[in-house]
Amino acid sequence: MLKKLKPDIYVDDIYAIDYEALKHEGITGIIFDIDNTLIPYEESMPNDKIQELFDKLKEMEFVISFISNGPKKRVDKFNTRLNFYTRHRACKPLSVNLRKFIEEVNLEKNQVAIIGDQIFTDVIAGKCAGIKTILVRPIKPRNSIIEKIKRRLESKLLQKFNEMEMKR
Ligand SMILES: [Mg+2]
Repeated sequence: MLKKLKPDIYVDDIYAIDYEALKHEGITGIIFDIDNTLIPYEESMPNDKIQELFDKLKEMEFVISFISNGPKKRVDKFNTRLNFYTRHRACKPLSVNLRKFIEEVNLEKNQVAIIGDQIFTDVIAGKCAGIKTILVRPIKPRNSIIEKIKRRLESKLLQKFNEMEMKR
């Protein structure tokens, strides 16, 4: 059961990911979550550092998409200059929109990774779609009660994963 929630990779942020290594293992498609993975809730546009990263990923010929549970307006605004494939109100942890993307760009499951900040949406959706899952720390967690409960559960899970890792 726990294994179903364990991300394949867990790093601090999107800049700590070894994209060369991903490419090397055959990943050519990347699905990004937006909120708290790329920008905090109170921002709406990619900053220069993000722009630079995406320029690099484009150069590396990754097929990129933004699959967000957020509204159309927010996703479109973020994507204005980047112009990647997007899905808004994506209903993660359901994997339907991830699978649609994989099919539409003609990739195989083992060629795609999802990068997001939440186990209960991004990682589960990725697992259900059968793709590689990469968890990053949320840029700036929201302070609602539900969010706090989720974060506490997530940190408990991450602790468990670390223990599992050490036992191996
Ligand atoms: Mg998020």
